[in-house]
Amino acid sequence: MIDLRSDTLTKPTESMRAAMARADVGDDVYGEDPTVALLEERVAGMFGHEAAMFTPTGSMANVLAVRSLVAPGQEVLCEASAHIARAELGAHGAYSGVTMRTWIHPRGQVDLPMIQTIFAPDMGPFFVPTAAIAVENTHNFAGGAVLPIGDLRDLREYATGVGVGVHMDGARIWNAHVATGVPLEEYGAIADVMAVCLSKGLGAPIGSLMVGNADAIAESRIWRKRMGGGMRQVGILAAAGLHALDHHIDRLADDHEHARLLAEACGVDPTSVDTNIVVVPRTDAADFVAAAREAGVLVSAVGPTAVRLVTHLDITRADAEKAAAALGSL
Ligand SMILES: *Cc1c(COP(=O)(O)O)cnc(C)c1O
Repeated sequence: MIDLRSDTLTKPTESMRAAMARADVGDDVYGEDPTVALLEERVAGMFGHEAAMFTPTGSMANVLAVRSLVAPGQEVLCEASAHIARAELGAHGAYSGVTMRTWIHPRGQVDLPMIQTIFAPDMGPFFVPTAAIAVENTHNFAGGAVLPIGDLRDLREYATGVGVGVHMDGARIWNAHVATGVPLEEYGAIADVMAVCLSKGLGAPIGSLMVGNADAIAESRIWRKRMGGGMRQVGILAAAGLHALDHHIDRLADDHEHARLLAEACGVDPTSVDTNIVVVPRTDAADFVAAAREAGVLVSAVGPTAVRLVTHLDITRADAEKAAAALGSL
């Protein structure tokens, strides 16, 4: 089976497992795991921020990052199909008392005029005040769409002007970086806080980081522990992340090429595929998924009228060509 359901499905490579086995570890709740410290320092530096914190999931990194900007009873603005709005099961409301209002963009993009329209200043006892604006780069449900750096800079300028924070859900920021050549630091400069994943295209089995200033990270360490996310000899997982940063960033370009190949075979304009996700419009999504399975390819339906294909570390060029032929004939 060629598995194109998600880039979370990757399994650690032999050399990643070897790096994990060798990892120097300590109790990270005591702040004594040297491998975690190395990973946190390295990732913070990559984005030009002061500090970072390892979390078990990207969802936890997002929850902690958003709550560092938004107090209970305040709101964050985001695009309607953002992961924080759709795929975190209401965590921001359930845990942090954060509400959301959304703008809609079919490609998950920054729509500054709309953001300006829905932004709510603090008016005392009348309306929920906007405390932060969140963006997702690349945008998962918009098919791995990249947010142009110019739009992000304009958003940053606007947010600073009205005095609100910016959160970037950068679960796949690595894909955006490889697709555009924009340095990670330039993406980092847009955001007060970020969440980045090691367990998507980078191929680590577990792990994400929240990135931000030293105060935000120090406070978030307390909240991470409060949520049950304090981890002990977790350097064994941080080592997988460090290995991924060393070996699996540049190769994301292969995933993007494979995605364009699949798009072409499925009648999707390959120039509309920014990174490693292809959304194929199909009115018969469930039937298509079943037929693809028969043909040896696992894909997922996203709602009744679209199918999603995701390329990743465990999909070779030969796999992509084989899947393209199989899906093309469907
Ligand atoms: C996968 C993903 C996350 C985090 O997911 P976890 O499964 O909690 O690690 C966050 N944001 C986006 C856009 C994602 O695709």
